[in-house]
Amino acid sequence: MLDLKESLSAIHSTFMDQLNLVSSSSEAENLRVRFLGKKGELTAVLRGMSSLTPEERPVVGQLANDVREAMETSLSEAMLVIIEKEKAARLNEQKIDITLPPVTGELGSRHPLYKVIDEICGIFLGLGYTIAEGPEIEYDEYAFERLRLPKGHPARDTQDTFYISENILLRPQTSPVQVRVMEKSKPPIKIVCPGKVYRADTLDSTHSPIFHQIEGLVVDYKVTMGDLIGSLQLFCKKLFGEDTKIRLRPHHFPFTEPSCEVDISCWGCGGKGCRICKSEGWIEVLGAGMVHPEVLSGCGIDPEIYSGFAFGIGVERTAMGRFGIDDIRLLYENDVRFLRQFR
Ligand SMILES: [Zn+2]
Repeated sequence: MLDLKESLSAIHSTFMDQLNLVSSSSEAENLRVRFLGKKGELTAVLRGMSSLTPEERPVVGQLANDVREAMETSLSEAMLVIIEKEKAARLNEQKIDITLPPVTGELGSRHPLYKVIDEICGIFLGLGYTIAEGPEIEYDEYAFERLRLPKGHPARDTQDTFYISENILLRPQTSPVQVRVMEKSKPPIKIVCPGKVYRADTLDSTHSPIFHQIEGLVVDYKVTMGDLIGSLQLFCKKLFGEDTKIRLRPHHFPFTEPSCEVDISCWGCGGKGCRICKSEGWIEVLGAGMVHPEVLSGCGIDPEIYSGFAFGIGVERTAMGRFGIDDIRLLYENDVRFLRQFR
């Protein structure tokens, strides 16, 4: 029994000596396993208890429990200190210098075409218009027939249109959206329709088989050509500058009557003539007209009661003019050296 008591006290003092040397939580864990684990030194000593007399066993057993408890208490106290130290060391290592410049990723920006679309739509939203969108894959009926361009009509150049089947095509203009809106809603209608359109053009510096348009449509009681001119005048001043003047030239579109093309005074020279306007002083920016009564009635709107105007703007041409871009292909190549200029 004396042997066992001595062994226990020897284990305790060795443990305490070792514990004083421990400097990390992993070392403390190793120490716990070595002394207090199932195969540890304390357990090994307690196996010797079988040689004790029944009177001796509880005395040694009590002592063994006291020693175990003392060791466990010392170990957890040491662990608290070690964990605090390790935490402090970790925080010190990860210290942030808030005076350093921030590390940020490179921010992208709106594409110049979408800047122009946003700006134009923003002007019309401010005038009480709403934005309408429609499918890019469209029925021939909506793209042509409902706009007074029946099959075989000379103005309907099938060479220019991407047909998917006899009756389905890639829309060559955003006008089908107007038809869809008129068909579904009653006047007053005030919409702008921005979107992609497709034509079988060969890609060069001024042509692309895919480009963007914004069309506008107003249908209400007693809408006149004067309303159209006033609206376009206001729009052009807002987009191209307060001094901008507009000029209407008679034109023909099958879906409007009368129809016109609209020029604005050149933003480069104010009308005197320069390189931008090819010395003409005027730049063509859009097509417009009064909605043809047959288009209205075809969409279930009575042309005896209602009238309307429509207009269409090419986004690429506007963006190229605005930003001085001389090749349309730059707008689609996604070259960041080009796009970075529009931040
Ligand atoms: Zn000019």
